Amino acid sequence: MSDNNPTIFGKILRGEIPSTRVWEDDQCIAFRDVNPVAPTHVLVIPRRHIATLNNATSDDKPLLGHLMWVATQIAAQLGVAEDGYRVVMNVGPGGGQTVFHIHLHIIAGRPLVWPPG
Ligand code: 5GP
Repeated sequence: MSDNNPTIFGKILRGEIPSTRVWEDDQCIAFRDVNPVAPTHVLVIPRRHIATLNNATSDDKPLLGHLMWVATQIAAQLGVAEDGYRVVMNVGPGGGQTVFHIHLHIIAGRPLVWPPG
């Protein structure tokens, strides 16, 4: 599933580098960002390696919906759902993506401005 995934998130999925996991199921895992930009900063990643959102196919539609649903469950679990939070996916270098394995950022715990930088 993630055996040919050369990214840092592939290493996290395989347990080769540690992470603080907050969610795990058959389709995805979620863990704390190592360099948080807010008091709560969690990454939700599919087990399947998809480099960018542009590489998702029609078959990935249920998976993409699942990732978004998991974000709501984690927000509730971490106690940020009521106050509010941001769910972001950066796409490609121009979108700020630095790890080429798709991931949702869940960011919360401080006032969030719009538009983002
Ligand atoms: P991107 O810039 O691709 O949207 O987000 C990548 C995120 O991965 C960044 O917020 C960065 O801090 C996080 N990150 C990079 N390497 C690691 C790591 O080894 N462990 C964890 N937990 N997060 C990482």
